[in-house]
Amino acid sequence: MSPVPLPMRIMASSIAIANQAGKIIRDIMSAGDLGIVEKGKDDLQTQADRSAQQCIVASLSNQFPNVKIIGEEGASDLVNVPKEWIITELDQDFLQQKCPESLSDISEKDLVIWVDPLDGTSEYTQGILEPVTVLIGFSVQNKAVGGVIHQPYYKRSNNEFGRTIWGLKGLGSGGFVTKPHVQGELIATTTRSHSNELVQSALRAIEPTKVIRVGGAGYKVLQLLEGDAHAYVFASAGCKKWDTCAPEAILEADGGILTDIIGNHYQYGSDVAFLNKLGVIATAKNIDHSSIISKIPDDVKGKLSQ
Ligand code: AMP
Ligand code: MG
Ligand code: MG
Repeated sequence: MSPVPLPMRIMASSIAIANQAGKIIRDIMSAGDLGIVEKGKDDLQTQADRSAQQCIVASLSNQFPNVKIIGEEGASDLVNVPKEWIITELDQDFLQQKCPESLSDISEKDLVIWVDPLDGTSEYTQGILEPVTVLIGFSVQNKAVGGVIHQPYYKRSNNEFGRTIWGLKGLGSGGFVTKPHVQGELIATTTRSHSNELVQSALRAIEPTKVIRVGGAGYKVLQLLEGDAHAYVFASAGCKKWDTCAPEAILEADGGILTDIIGNHYQYGSDVAFLNKLGVIATAKNIDHSSIISKIPDDVKGKLSQ
């Protein structure tokens, strides 16, 4: 049997690792001591962010020692990691699928893995748990190609918590159920806790029939995937590469598009700036992305480009 190509192993491993990270996030919330640290203005970190990152980075670097891994919480202590947090298994269901031809020869040096161990920290600290996600995405030659969004507080039909959504360009996406987007409407989803005048101005200009304000880049892309919103509109700097790598890869594997407010894709190589300075515009499959981009006022585009 031929060996499993690297991108397939990274995907299968990320699915298993994200499940464990989600458990860590739930356990820390249940224990009650969040250990909140203020990293900057409107930017919090909790023990769950730190521990989930330790689990993810320790597990990935153990299996893929030569892949560059960039995590939101900086350098993690990889020495004192509890044994049960080091995940070595691969999700076997995922491995039933065939690697896209275009990715079959990728080697470790072509890849960067972007990790947001807990997206939606602001909401997590306030007990708003549905939008909390774990994001593990990877790029190949600068482009977001594959990833997972794990939702630790999603309640499954068997009453257990957690689900993992995946996407790989050239293969497709899975782990969620979609419904058709409402015709004749434009439902926009945007930030709940990081709004400002530019964000508002862009939202007004696209003339949505409804605006949903929720936390998390991962969760907003989930809303696009599941048919609950047509466009994710965030005309502000603030999101970082670890917020958009996995969501972009999954959304685009599903037929949608995620770019900055000018309409350009972000780059995800190892030496790029972390900040997505030019905001985020993402649209679900079958939604006209360029028409949303064309409605963003030039003065908003100009201010973010400065
Ligand atoms: P939101 O849509 O506000 O939940 O933001 C999505 C992601 O981008 C989260 O990881 C936020 O922490 C991050 N983010 C967005 N805007 C800002 C900001 N102004 N300062 C810090 N982080 C931000
Ligand atoms: Mg985040
Ligand atoms: Mg985070």
